Amino acid sequence: MRFAPKSLWAAALVAGLALVGCDDDGGGLTELEPMADGGVSADAASGAADDAGPGADDGGAPAGDAGGEPEPPADVVVERLDFEGITLTDGLSEMQTIELPDDVLSLTLIVLGSGLSLHVVQHLEGPDGTILVAENPPGYRPAPRDRFLGPFPGPFNSPNRSASSSTAVSGFLAPNNPGVQVTGGTWTFQIAAVDGQGRPASGEADVVAFVKRGPAPQTRGRFDLHLHFTGARGWTAASAPTDADFQRALDRMRGFYRRVGIELGEITYDDIDASYRTVDATGQGPLAGINLMFAQSNYDTGVSLFFVDRLTSPFGDNVVGGIAGGAPGPILLRNTQRSGVAVATALDPDPDAIGHIMGHETGHYLGLYHTQETVGPVDQIDDTPTGGAGNTNLMYPTVTAGEASLSDGQGWVLHRNPGIVPQ
Ligand SMILES: [Zn+2]
Repeated sequence: MRFAPKSLWAAALVAGLALVGCDDDGGGLTELEPMADGGVSADAASGAADDAGPGADDGGAPAGDAGGEPEPPADVVVERLDFEGITLTDGLSEMQTIELPDDVLSLTLIVLGSGLSLHVVQHLEGPDGTILVAENPPGYRPAPRDRFLGPFPGPFNSPNRSASSSTAVSGFLAPNNPGVQVTGGTWTFQIAAVDGQGRPASGEADVVAFVKRGPAPQTRGRFDLHLHFTGARGWTAASAPTDADFQRALDRMRGFYRRVGIELGEITYDDIDASYRTVDATGQGPLAGINLMFAQSNYDTGVSLFFVDRLTSPFGDNVVGGIAGGAPGPILLRNTQRSGVAVATALDPDPDAIGHIMGHETGHYLGLYHTQETVGPVDQIDDTPTGGAGNTNLMYPTVTAGEASLSDGQGWVLHRNPGIVPQ
């Protein structure tokens, strides 16, 4: 089963959050992309000469000491709380409460629903009444374009952006921009759900909460990277560790994160079945090709990447550069149908372009949105360039082998993710 064609947003959401388009410039694809990106135009950013270092393959480690031994971890820890069997009636849960400690640094909520419903954190309110997410957030006036943002435009336009990118599994991170904060005390949250036609859905969902806490936010961190190969572009678990092109792509990704004080930790290499070289990203539910693939991540640290030839999508079979399991994805949870990131290698085989997709989709998975949604608003991070000028930012929705980097503000968000541990 899949969504009715008329519900454009739903179809778009399939590839939604993360798709990085590619290829020919700016085609009509643009209109289709909802909150996410829609990428379009590969090679766009071209001109921008002096590559911001990160992109480069050769050597130059812009910031900091690569490969240094991990120092004793700071007193930043992640605690997990489970909310099981939350009932959804006519599309809404009861308000849930969660007690956050005074030294809270961030709150991550991962909704684990079932079937073909889309879920979102629709309300989040602090002990002093501060609204971080709401169905109708303060100052929000619905606009016609919001129909491209999916079924939950209020949460998307809330002070702390909240969105749903696929059926069943949905992630949420607060704060996900430097303009908001979480504090100690009793918080309340509410989950909303709709079916494929946008109607309120009933059922049950579990919610996993990760509370990151510590005396001060980390400024240096790392995350593990779990690489899964289908044989696409000739890369396998055996060949990739010494394949010059693959390592060039990996180095490009490494550079993006090093720029904001984040290193790659343990890197693993695994093969998966070659049948995933072309992955169906149009379907929904646990049996959709891409969801079956993501569920093969057996890792509960860092981010799992899956290298495929191409992703079929509602926009065409060769226009989507990558798809992430959410913004954020279900970090720290293995074997869910969104436990990973897909990277297409046939769109643009240039290792620098592939490294860009790896970095961009991982950025989504760790909680970042586009600097400029193809149809929709800009991000909520002040130091990122907006509009077309943002095409030098890693989270601009196009693929490029040219200049790209993450801003300090984006790094600020990434360090709040529970999947990035102190270095
Ligand atoms: Zn994207």
